[in-house]
Formats: sequence, C-alpha cells, structure tokens
Amino acid sequence: MKLSQIFAEKRPTLSFEVFPPKTSDTYDSVKFAAEKIASLKPDFMSVTYGAGGGTSKYTADIAEDILTKHDVTPLAHLTCVSSDKKTVENTLFSLKDKKIENILALRGDIPSGFENENREYKYASQLVSDIKKYGDFCVGGACYPEGHPEDLSVADGIKHLKEKVDAGCEFLTTQMFFDNNILYSFLYKIREVGITVPIVAGIMPVTNGKQIKRICSLSGTYLPQRFKSIVDRFGDKPSAMKQAGIAYATEQIIDLFANGVNAVHVYSMNKPDVAEKIQQNLSEIILKKD
Ligand code: FAD
Repeated sequence: MKLSQIFAEKRPTLSFEVFPPKTSDTYDSVKFAAEKIASLKPDFMSVTYGAGGGTSKYTADIAEDILTKHDVTPLAHLTCVSSDKKTVENTLFSLKDKKIENILALRGDIPSGFENENREYKYASQLVSDIKKYGDFCVGGACYPEGHPEDLSVADGIKHLKEKVDAGCEFLTTQMFFDNNILYSFLYKIREVGITVPIVAGIMPVTNGKQIKRICSLSGTYLPQRFKSIVDRFGDKPSAMKQAGIAYATEQIIDLFANGVNAVHVYSMNKPDVAEKIQQNLSEIILKKD
C-alpha cells in the first residue's frame, strides 16, 4: 500500500524504524528484530539505508521480508550522494521487483574528504525527481524542524524543502526532536510557504542517556531541561532510563496526536521491546488495523 493512501485516512498512525546490519554476520539478528517489530502490525515500517550505500541490498531484503511475511507496508530509505544514476536505476528496478511501493529519498551525509563537484547527485530533490520518473513509487523526504546543519538560514532551508516537495515528495519525515513546540512552530512556517504534504513526526525513545547527549550536542538538537533532568538522574541506570525514555516519548506522541499531528514515526532502533511498550501505551489512542 502507498503511504499516501494511509495518510489520507487522517487517523493517528504509528510506524517504526529498523536499520539494516553493516555486515552479513548480524543479518539474522536484525531480521529477527525487524520481524518481531513487524508482528506488532504498525501502520508501516521504515528500513534505513547505510551511509555510502554499503547495505543497500539488506535494506531491500528486509523491506521485502516485512511485506511478504507480515503484510506490513515497508518504506525503504535510499540515499544518493555517493551514488550515480545507473545505480539508482538498478535499485529502483529491484525495489519494484520486490513490490516495495514507498521510498524515503535522501541525499545522505557527505563523507569527509568527498568533494567531487562532478557527482551526479548533490541534493535529495534530484533523487526525488528521478524516482518519480521511474515508476509508480510514493516518495517522501526528510525535514528538519531545528534546521539542517548545512542550511544557510531557516528561510533558506525551508526554500529548499519546498523545492524538494515540488519535485514530487508526497510526505516528509522529521528529524527527531524533544520539544513539540519546535515542531508546531516549524509546521506554521512551512504551511506559510505552501508546503501542505503530510508531516510524519519522528520521535526517538531514548534508552541510552549518555549516547543521546553526545548525538544531540553533535547535531545541535535542543534538549529541554525536563528531558536533561531525566538523563542526569537515570542515565546511569539502563532499565530506569529505558522506562523514563519510553514514558517521555509516549507523552510527546500523545501531545502530537492531541494537536492534530496524525502521523508519528518511532525511531525504534531495532528494539522490539521498546516498540511494543510504546504501542501498548497508546493502545486506546491509535486505531488498530485488522
Ligand atoms: P537535502 O534535502 O538535499 O538537504 C541537504 C542540505 O542541502 C540542506 O541544508 C538543504 O537546505 C540544502 N539544499 C537542498 N537543496 C539545495 C540547493 N538546490 N542549493 C543549495 N542547498 C540546497 N542518512 C542515511 O545515510 N541513511 C538513511 O536511511 C537516512 N535516513 C534519514 C531519515 C530521516 C527522517 C532524516 C531526517 C535523515 C536521514 N538520514 C539518513 C540523514 C540524511 O541523509 C542527512 O541528514 C543528510 O545530511 C541530508 O539529507 P537530506 O535528504 O535531508 O538532504
């Protein structure tokens, strides 16, 4: 099923994310985690794409598994910065072959020292238009409520986001955020410039306090004091941190649904127990699929 059809139902939806293994050694354990998450029957599941494209085959294989064995709609991520048009074309044929209908089109992070000005893809919007040419995929893109580190300004970031949507994005998934007001203010700004596609709010249930502080200081993600206090108090106690992180994410999600943000995507990081707990916490709020 196309995600555009799911979003058109305008009901609260919950989706989960898995990332493929870097090497074949861990393929089975990732596949097992993905299948456990799929057995929860989320509205859809995304499968990320390894930076540099090294795990592209695994992305397609895991997405296919989710679809064929669990009848859960997959969203395959695809990056382009380290790729060329021929490789993208082959990947699209393979995805089509596997009956995968949804793609999150991304530029990918530019590897350090990679300054090839002649590369075929510089921005995700180019990949979006190419995918639209090659078949009947529902295509989404990434967006950044706190801005992308390379944006020249907030307005510049939103201008390029609009170009990406105009190239064919039918929905946008956000980078994680820990303060919903940041998303609400971003929604206001993008709606003002005419970006009207569904926004899928990306929520990260934090289970490792130290790791998240490091990631957020690198990416510039704002950590509200209420969240920092949780990490300071429980960061050294893994099971307490997990419980508090799931509770914080649940509260964020309830507030989003209450304020009309229907699509929530949980960065479940190959953790079926975290996905399951969040789903249980929302069982009376999300409408179950048959
Ligand atoms: P773009 O949309 O191309 O934007 C990148 C920067 O370029 C922005 O600053 C933008 O304003 C600017 N820009 C865009 N167009 C122009 C233009 N015409 N002229 C000048 N500047 C321009 N990475 C992976 O490797 N694998 C994944 O599976 C993955 N999944 C992700 C999922 C989500 C929801 C998010 C938010 C990110 C994900 N990423 C993933 C990370 C992503 O690849 C990086 O954040 C990357 O740096 C930017 O990708 P993008 O698609 O947002 O790029």
